[in-house]
Amino acid sequence: MSDATRVTAGRGTELRCGGWRQEGLLRMLENVVEVGERPEDLVVYAARARAARDWESFHALVAALRELREEETLVVQSGKPVGIFPSPAEAPIVVMACGNIVGHYATPENFDDLAARGLIMWGGLTAGDWQYIGFQGVLQGVYELLQAASREHFGGSLAGRLVLTAGLGGMGSAQPLAIRMSGARGIVVEVDEAKCARALRRGHLDSVTDSVDEALAASATGVVGLVGNAASVYRALAGNGVAPDVVTDLTAAHDALYGYCPEGLSLAEWSERRQLEPEAVAALARASMAEEVEAMLRFKAAGSVVFENGNNLRVQAEAAGVSQAFEVDGFAERYIRPLFCRGIGPFRWVALSGEEADLATLDHLARETAGREEVRSWIDLARQHVEVQGLPARSCWLGHGERSAFALAVNELVSAGRLAGPVLFTRDHFDAGGMTHPHIGTEGMADGSSAISDWPILDALLLSVSGADLVAVHAGGAGYAGYMQSAGVTIVADGTVAAARRLARSLDADTGLGVLRYADAGYAEARSVADSAGLGLRRSEATL
Ligand code: NAD
Repeated sequence: MSDATRVTAGRGTELRCGGWRQEGLLRMLENVVEVGERPEDLVVYAARARAARDWESFHALVAALRELREEETLVVQSGKPVGIFPSPAEAPIVVMACGNIVGHYATPENFDDLAARGLIMWGGLTAGDWQYIGFQGVLQGVYELLQAASREHFGGSLAGRLVLTAGLGGMGSAQPLAIRMSGARGIVVEVDEAKCARALRRGHLDSVTDSVDEALAASATGVVGLVGNAASVYRALAGNGVAPDVVTDLTAAHDALYGYCPEGLSLAEWSERRQLEPEAVAALARASMAEEVEAMLRFKAAGSVVFENGNNLRVQAEAAGVSQAFEVDGFAERYIRPLFCRGIGPFRWVALSGEEADLATLDHLARETAGREEVRSWIDLARQHVEVQGLPARSCWLGHGERSAFALAVNELVSAGRLAGPVLFTRDHFDAGGMTHPHIGTEGMADGSSAISDWPILDALLLSVSGADLVAVHAGGAGYAGYMQSAGVTIVADGTVAAARRLARSLDADTGLGVLRYADAGYAEARSVADSAGLGLRRSEATL
């Protein structure tokens, strides 16, 4: 990487911008590149989710954030800043839209063509709006998912159970640790030897091998990385009558061209051939995904708990002719929805000072104020297992009311000077109100509303009028087109009364709308949370 493309997030208390709101967003823009998978290309995660459209846009974003004054709002279109407008003091200081193409035209081909012409960018969920905090962001998601599966199928404990999965990329690299935190054993298949070596270096894998037999033997006592192609390995294991307790996958299957290496191709061949014959390579990848899903169906028939973990593998396999692909469960519908009904989802905080001591103070506060044992036990596990990546950050699934209460307590700590710097709050888009993805988050909605994207758009509108600091509307997903619509939000707790107001309003609005969405769709648990929290047409007073 050249010096020109080496980015590290600002740390300390010195401001380069007009205030902490602008400085916080600038540090996050830098941070997603610092912790990203291919910083030299501005690629943060998920094969090609980018932080900015190109380097020129990156530098223009930095300059714009540095210049941005109070009562101004910066407008960003697909990773490129386009204008600064006057706005009220309580308005967002950055609004973005990323990857959106109007309905009928939202095809992968149109997206790729527009992206090649430098007109649009795929921002993933948290890359384009600078909210990615490294592999931890998905770590708790995978952990919570394994916990939910364990409660449903294994009496609440995965101790000694074997998990088979694949992919050790930006998100996938959370898997070995989540398996270990759950007390399970595991085999993680990864085609790129360097990714296995990285997970071994981080201490998340106990060993690495390229032999299926050796992997099976090593998985008797720990979590092993298996260098190989998931399609070939899953087929071989299913053919040998191996039935792991849990089977899933986190290769970047949503992207048939860049995310999933076809069987029979080396990494170098894959990279070379996709430039020369992209359509043929995508077809080969889909054929391999079909093989993998066929094997997953055999595991399921043999008694394994099998689910897709939100990477659109089933859509690709179905397109390649596996008519039963959707007999593999979707993780959100099966395991995560009950949490979303309570507004519980992937909330995050970031210590903008860069001081690990601030994170320790925040973790302590989260532990002390938590109303649920799950939160305490997660914080303990995270402190034990999760190393700091970029700016010190914590992912912590909190629900409606929990997020605003915690953020307000943190804002008071900042105000009292008990932290070295302000704290930034954000969340994954994959949240109760934040996303519509009919094959991932909103699959199989009880009232048939799975594909209605009014909800994330309403969420973004509501977050804007609630005064969140950054509000984003993203689209894309599989093939980068048409499959998903989502809303992102970031708010800085700088210790001021204005920040307290923004935090309370935005965080309660965000989770509140999520709960109402599930209540509206007929989920009894969401209705009861809405009733007890006074959500609806006659809601109780706001927290502030
Ligand atoms: P990534 O591109 O960083 O990593 C993908 C990894 O898969 C790479 O290391 C690649 O070498 C490996 N791989 C590709 N083909 C393979 C094959 N045939 N066999 C074995 N390994 C192979 O992507 P990521 O950031 O890790 O994301 C993975 C997926 O997770 C994406 O589809 C993303 O959309 C999805 N995702 C899910 C959630 C969730 O909440 N469940 C959240 C975010 C992302």
